[in-house]
Amino acid sequence: MSAPLLSLRDVHKVFGDGDTATVAANGVDLDIHPGEIVGLVGESGSGKSTIANIVLGLVRPDAGTVTFDGVRLSDHLARNERAFRRQVQAVFQQPLLALDQRRRIGWSIAEPLVIHRIGTAEERRSRVVELLRAVGLSPDLADRLPRELSGGQLQRVNIARALTLEPRLLVCDEAVSALDVSVQAQVLDLFLEMQDRLGIAMLFISHNMAVVRHISDSVVVMYHGDVVESGPTDQVCDAPASPYARQLIGSWLEPVVDTLPESHE
Ligand code: ADP
Ligand code: MG
Repeated sequence: MSAPLLSLRDVHKVFGDGDTATVAANGVDLDIHPGEIVGLVGESGSGKSTIANIVLGLVRPDAGTVTFDGVRLSDHLARNERAFRRQVQAVFQQPLLALDQRRRIGWSIAEPLVIHRIGTAEERRSRVVELLRAVGLSPDLADRLPRELSGGQLQRVNIARALTLEPRLLVCDEAVSALDVSVQAQVLDLFLEMQDRLGIAMLFISHNMAVVRHISDSVVVMYHGDVVESGPTDQVCDAPASPYARQLIGSWLEPVVDTLPESHE
């Protein structure tokens, strides 16, 4: 197998101290290979967003190593943060909050190109059209304001914006959780299409096992900062090794499993 694109080894993070300390990551190991979608699942408060923020360089781990493309994350950030940010993009839960409300959609999608000084105004305009089409939206939406779009359309805009710089890794933290179930399935399929067409790797975080099962090549299960299970998706979902993971997975799958279309595998 190829070398991992992202590796976490024995990553620790504690928030607060003494009686109020919370162990958000307790020796987390996680690998994502190029083009792979790794699902990170766990109940609320299990440490998923902490891992997302550590990978994005927004939270510093107390101990352990994070490497991206064979280089330590701290070295990426110290030497060339801009180059790192180009390669690792994020999509979060609230599609409307992620966009500047006063700016037109086309402006928001082109903004990363402006920040990174890529292309002429003309080239940026045609890239916006291309990206809107790629995420299944009409290029006419470029002239609209965020409040004129539905939640599903807005999340597609956020995905287009995240794709603008052709990242190698997308960190998706509850990226479909705020969407209606029918729209969730469409947006999940868009992520799968982006993996297939562009070879983008993803850390796909959700508290919903059915969502993670639908999209992921492999799954990591967290509980109170610990990784309690990890492996290929079918193995983790169908034959989890630890009794605890079995219990969690069983309780998560049942209520929602019928609401998503069949996996594409
Ligand atoms: P999840 O995304 O799985 O819901 P989080 O990573 O957001 O979990 O949180 C894990 C634990 O760490 C929770 O108990 C949360 O309250 C705590 N936590 C997260 N971020 C902070 C912070 N900045 N300060 C204090 N506690 C935090
Ligand atoms: Mg979270």
